[in-house]
Amino acid sequence: MMQQNDRQNSIAFIALGSNLDNPLKQIKTACQEIAALPKTSLIQHSSLYKSAPIAPQEQPDYINAVAKIDTGLTPVELLNALLAIEQRHGRVRDFRNAPRTLDLDILLYGALQLNSNDLTIPHPRMIQRAFVLYPLMEIAPDCYIPGHGKINQLIAACSDQVITRLEK
Ligand code: ADP
Ligand code: MG
Repeated sequence: MMQQNDRQNSIAFIALGSNLDNPLKQIKTACQEIAALPKTSLIQHSSLYKSAPIAPQEQPDYINAVAKIDTGLTPVELLNALLAIEQRHGRVRDFRNAPRTLDLDILLYGALQLNSNDLTIPHPRMIQRAFVLYPLMEIAPDCYIPGHGKINQLIAACSDQVITRLEK
């Protein structure tokens, strides 16, 4: 018999980024914490990538990755859970695009399109960011971004951005 929580689950993709305080370790622990969220299992995560900051000032390179999860959390519950993980990693919100110990963004949540004050899905800036699209492409090459199109078409527009895949 089908379990009720199976029926309500969705596949979601989370972008992870860090450029402070041992970024590699920040991303690896964050992955484990995502896997441990209630009603959630981690299906897969991408390789780790290194990218140059989009910055208003000099700051260290970023480590980025994308995780694929199966979750029974609602989008808002998921956002709140991710913000709590960011806080445990000592995230301070200084200014736009400031260096950060950990940034967790919801990229996609099933085929949902949502636009509220606190939450926009698909993430509004994902389609112009190589550091999101390359790791996403690695684990979801056939991915369709609702309202925008297929990932392989979107990624072509970002091919001038430098990003390096690190060894697994
Ligand atoms: P950014 O990730 O753009 O650098 P922040 O991490 O400081 O910015 O996020 C600020 C706010 O963005 C969050 O508190 C959240 O309410 C909002 N937000 C809107 N859509 C999303 C999303 N898809 N994923 C994560 N946060 C989002
Ligand atoms: Mg964020």
